[in-house]
Order: sequence, then C-alpha cells, then structure tokens
Amino acid sequence: MRLSENNAKLFVISAPSGCGKGTVLGEVFKNRDVFFSVSCTTRKPRSGEVNGVHYHFIDNIQFEKMAAEGKFLEHAGFVDHYYGTPKLPVTENLAAGRDVVLEIETNGAFQVKKAMPEAVLLFILPPSVKEIDRRLHKRGTEEEEVISKRVSEAAGEIAKAVDYDYVIMNDRLEDAVEDFITVMNGVKSGDGSAERFRSDNSDTKKLIEEVLNNA
Ligand code: 5GP
Repeated sequence: MRLSENNAKLFVISAPSGCGKGTVLGEVFKNRDVFFSVSCTTRKPRSGEVNGVHYHFIDNIQFEKMAAEGKFLEHAGFVDHYYGTPKLPVTENLAAGRDVVLEIETNGAFQVKKAMPEAVLLFILPPSVKEIDRRLHKRGTEEEEVISKRVSEAAGEIAKAVDYDYVIMNDRLEDAVEDFITVMNGVKSGDGSAERFRSDNSDTKKLIEEVLNNA
C-alpha cells in the first residue's frame, strides 16, 4: 500500500501503558491539524471513556468479522483483549493531505510498517519499569492482576524500541513534548533535526539499555 503523493505523514506512536503518552500526545497535538485514529477494542470502557471518541468499543464477534473482512490496517491482542486500527479513515485522511497519528502497541506498529514502509514509528520510553508500576497504581483504573500483566508486558515492549525509527524519553513532560515536536518537524521538513532521536544512534541505544537495566 502506498501513502499519498502529498507530504502527509503517518505517525505511529507506541509506549508502554502508564508511560504518560496520553498527556504527551495531548500537548504535542494541541494546535495541530492531524487525524487521530480511533481504534476498535474488545476491552470494556474505563470510567470517563466515550464510545467513538476514545475507542470504538465492540465485542469479539464484531471484531473478528471486521478482521475477516480486511477492515483493519493492523490488529493485535494485548493483555486479554483485541485492538485494531480501522483502515479506511487512515488512508482517506492521508490521501486528503492530513497527517495521521496512530497510538498502538508494538506488534501492530510493525504490521503498519510492513504495509506502509513510509510510516514513521516513534517510541516513548518511560524512565524505568518501576515507574510504570508506580504510575499504573496511581492511575488506579485497573485491578492488581491487570496492572501486573501490563507491567510485565512493558519490559518486552521497551526492548522493541530499537526497531522503531525514533525514540524519545518521557521523564519530564516538557522535555518529552519538546523532543516529540522536534522529531515531527524534522520528519516533515527533512532538515535532519530529528536525527539525534533515531533509534540506531548510539546515545539512543544506550538510553534504551539504561531503561531496561533500571527494571
Ligand atoms: P489501553 O487498554 O491502555 O487503552 O491500551 C492498551 C494498549 O493497546 C496500548 O499499548 C495501546 O497503545 C494499544 N492500542 C490501542 N489501540 C490499538 C490498536 O488499534 N492496535 C494495536 N495494535 N494496539 C492498540
């Protein structure tokens, strides 16, 4: 599948749950005209989540039907539930020249890269796995059992950051927002300013190692 001939970009963002990515993305995209893809999921809404806004909350049968009909750009299982990106809104917005943002886990991100190699994959690192555990407990939206599944999933996800195009750290919110904007603008303009955040750069590799060793 080819992206449009215009300069619209597909940004695929991953971060372990509890990494604060929602807050970072909210700040980064506050005044930008981008299309935020709304995923389908089979998990139940958390309090405050609105159907059609945060997710399309559907059941297993509906999900499997959409998958069989090829309506997902990617889909994956994550901690006992399915998640998937509806394909049409993504391709339509790109064709119309609008940047598109997907906020998905790592297996889905690699599926997107395979289908659309021009997609830009960005990983947001937490300072440590311990910090994820702390933030999930503080958030208090999940049962203890789900928190521990999400925390053990986190280390595996962080190890995959090396296969993303760009990696930034969310230690301080202001820094994460600034770094994220640097990457986006660098990617859009092609002026090389995003290069220091590339995953194959030695500083970035060291950063990923440090986070994993901080586990
Ligand atoms: P949560 O249940 O915390 O909203 O999301 C759990 C994980 O699923 C997060 O890592 C989130 O980024 C990911 N996710 C959300 N939507 C999608 C999707 O459409 N596809 C995939 N592969 N992952 C998703």
